[in-house]
Amino acid sequence: MSDWKETNTHLRILRDAEAGHYGVIAAIAYNIEQVHGLIKAANTARSPLIIQFFPWAIQVFDGLLVRTAAEAAKSADVPISIHLDHAQSEDLIRRAAELPFDSIMVDMSHYEKEDNLCKTAQWVQHCNERQIATEAEPGRIEGGEDGVMDTAGLEACMTTPEEVEEFVATGVCALAPAFGNVHGEYGPQGPRLDFKRFENIRECADGRVHLVLHGTNGFEPDLMTKCIGAGVSKINVNRLVLDDYYEHLHAKTGKMPHTQLIEEGIEKVIQLTMKWMDICGSAGKG
Ligand SMILES: [Zn+2]
Repeated sequence: MSDWKETNTHLRILRDAEAGHYGVIAAIAYNIEQVHGLIKAANTARSPLIIQFFPWAIQVFDGLLVRTAAEAAKSADVPISIHLDHAQSEDLIRRAAELPFDSIMVDMSHYEKEDNLCKTAQWVQHCNERQIATEAEPGRIEGGEDGVMDTAGLEACMTTPEEVEEFVATGVCALAPAFGNVHGEYGPQGPRLDFKRFENIRECADGRVHLVLHGTNGFEPDLMTKCIGAGVSKINVNRLVLDDYYEHLHAKTGKMPHTQLIEEGIEKVIQLTMKWMDICGSAGKG
């Protein structure tokens, strides 16, 4: 293993999670209240944490939000890494690689497979030269989330063990397989995951890459622990830790001083995040 991979905070967090058989929350943040709440939750729960941003955050705030989060992460009492989720344009990856990210998802899954593989390998190398870890998506996960391009016009394709092999060859550090998981909302029947497929993927990966779960909106705790038991170590969450915050804004905006609205909003993020850190087994592991 390259020296920088030994010390990269993101990879250390995932290695420790795999050794300890727990999952680490990788929470999308859209603003400073959420970043602050997530870090406070990690400090209080003594839990490792991954804070992630969509490219949207860079497009709107330039590097401000990412730099602030990275600085706060460094002074936390527990390991916290900063990750860019779904970097889908090559210009954006180039720009992001100059920001203090510990890890970047080079998501070329909107290209056909040959292009996806070739571009992934190229950007993995670009990031690695800057000591930044990488994640990719073999196959294609359906749907979209607030802040990331919707792939609804493109056909979803479940990840195959052959694709895992091909992506491992790109040198990528982590893979987000498509095994029935969906970005955004699952609809009335709820998530239907193909655990048999996931087991084949995990066997094929054989510890050479970390496995990431995308698309957890609406997950129940027992489905989450089942995924962690199956070998997922990085758990992407969005609304799972932010829903109470949004509900608070919806109910209280204009009805209390803005300062109080912000402070209570932060508290909502802290409480819900700590609950999921407990469920994922990362509480006390930081
Ligand atoms: Zn995703």
